[in-house]
Amino acid sequence: MADASPRILDGIAIASEIKQEVAAGVAAAKAQGYTPGLAVVLVGDVPASQIYVRSKVKTCGELGIYSEMHTPPASVTTAELLELVASLNAREEIDGILIQLPLPEHVDTQRLLEAVLPEKDVDGFHPVNAGRLLNGTDASELLAPCTPAGIMEVLRRSGIEVAGRRAVVLGRSNIVGKPIAAMLINASATVTVCHSRTRDLSAITREADILVAAIGRAGYVHRDMVKPGATLIDVGINRITGEAEFAQFFPPEHHEHAKRREGFEKRGSTVIGDVDPAAFAVSGAYTPVPGGVGALTIAMLMANTVKAARMRRGR
Ligand code: NAP
Repeated sequence: MADASPRILDGIAIASEIKQEVAAGVAAAKAQGYTPGLAVVLVGDVPASQIYVRSKVKTCGELGIYSEMHTPPASVTTAELLELVASLNAREEIDGILIQLPLPEHVDTQRLLEAVLPEKDVDGFHPVNAGRLLNGTDASELLAPCTPAGIMEVLRRSGIEVAGRRAVVLGRSNIVGKPIAAMLINASATVTVCHSRTRDLSAITREADILVAAIGRAGYVHRDMVKPGATLIDVGINRITGEAEFAQFFPPEHHEHAKRREGFEKRGSTVIGDVDPAAFAVSGAYTPVPGGVGALTIAMLMANTVKAARMRRGR
């Protein structure tokens, strides 16, 4: 049987710990005569991207990292963006280049991501960095994708054993599923990756000691898909707006959801992960949504920027 009360893995607290370490790293860099710098490229007017970028730039300011924003219009061409990336590649004071995705359809996203110098690729999306991750390059010397790197920090800092355990990853995207699978393999877990074509998914998820859900489907992982006592890492960010859907995941008779209901009634929506909140009850530990994995992504971007600055200077 699972422990009566699962542990909540507090992403906000862990992110704040990492940010303190990053700030110390920035201070050390400044003492050595350089300031880590991040350039963010935000194309067009995608509201969600604007929110993410604003929060990245703000966090840079809080931690003492230099940042600058480039905001070409949605009509920008691939060639113009390639020129911008080339100019950022060439600038000494820029250590990290982040191209906020998604880009407009007419832009060749892959070509652009590959144009960023691997040593300035703080998102960890360049094939060279993806290859280094697969090769098992030590995490301290690697620019790895931020969200999966954040998950590994949650596991490590929460003392959750990975080596030798069964890990199941739901989702095979290049930004979450594949890289987290590689990181878990590097950490000696036995890893199974599932996706939309997987057969008998529940039988596989029920074997997981660590279950990472990154599929983008609200509350998809049900209680009966979880092995009692497992660690659940919920990467999903899904907005729900309907009353019926809300009541399905947060039944009115469950008083622990009172605060969530208050927010839902005020804003008309709430954010939920890929795991049904009822499934958390059978787990041993879980990352909540919000306040779990999502909190780590920006902290890891900051950490990558300081790491890129250090590595580029051979320190
Ligand atoms: P994505 O590119 O859309 O990939 C989704 C993956 O899930 C695909 O591999 C897909 O399989 C698989 N999938 C979809 N439905 C499935 C089902 N019913 N059963 C099994 N597998 C299924 O998504 P993503 O970019 O990886 O993001 C996943 C979720 O994480 C989203 O909610 C996103 O918002 C969130 N996210 C959060 C953060 C953060 O916390 N900072 C960062 C990134 C993403 P196929 O490959 O077969 O289509």
